[in-house]
Amino acid sequence: MNDLPDILQVASQLALPLHPIQGGRQYTTPCWACHSRGNKPDINRKGHLTIRPDKGVFRCPRCGYSGNGYTMARDFVGKERAIQIVGSVGDYNGVKLQELEPAGIETRNIVYNAFLDKLVLSPRHRNDINSRGLNDDIVDKNNYKTTPLWDSTEGICSLLIKDGYPLERIPGFFKNREGKWVFMTLPGFLIPVRDQQQRIQGFQIRVDDKYLDMKENLRKYIWFSSAGKKTGCSSGAPVHTALPLDINAKLKLNRVREKR
Ligand SMILES: [Zn+2]
Repeated sequence: MNDLPDILQVASQLALPLHPIQGGRQYTTPCWACHSRGNKPDINRKGHLTIRPDKGVFRCPRCGYSGNGYTMARDFVGKERAIQIVGSVGDYNGVKLQELEPAGIETRNIVYNAFLDKLVLSPRHRNDINSRGLNDDIVDKNNYKTTPLWDSTEGICSLLIKDGYPLERIPGFFKNREGKWVFMTLPGFLIPVRDQQQRIQGFQIRVDDKYLDMKENLRKYIWFSSAGKKTGCSSGAPVHTALPLDINAKLKLNRVREKR
């Protein structure tokens, strides 16, 4: 893709109601993805989806839906019409995104596999996944692992570094204030997301229901990412990544069932 389109012009073409915040440096509009992502619809008049014209991007803090002017148009009116709209607006010419590019897939796959080797799947999570109709063979093959407590992230990272695995630009890992490598964790288990060659591209965390009950606006499935952190980078996952594996289909099914 070339330069990003001017996102504010895209939003106006889509006739989105725009509410200036931060003295007009950013805008909000009701998020159209919240509902499809398992949240209550975003009916607040001013909306939660935040548009940043200076960076050419948008993000909804309620459901995590994010993208640029092109994805906005595509998700709103479909690809064909989006191309027309994007073609009719000017280029985005603000500052470029500062986020680090994630390491290549080969590196991520190697580091992520070494990372999983240092983790275990708790019996409770195993039972939980078994009860969704996945037997132990599949559980072991897919290599689900329980996320460790925050306190142990530093130790696990230093083991990985000692073993020679680079953590720079590996989504999910970042340096804490003391300059020590740590990684994002939440109570739940890691679901490796693989490409067609079975390489691990990244993870989703299936957050424990108990924890979800305590935290409003937290989604059940969250990308293992260190976006927004110094030395961190995003999961690198496109907005609408299809989860390719049977397990994920089943987990998704289960998610639908739980919602009822
Ligand atoms: Zn949303």
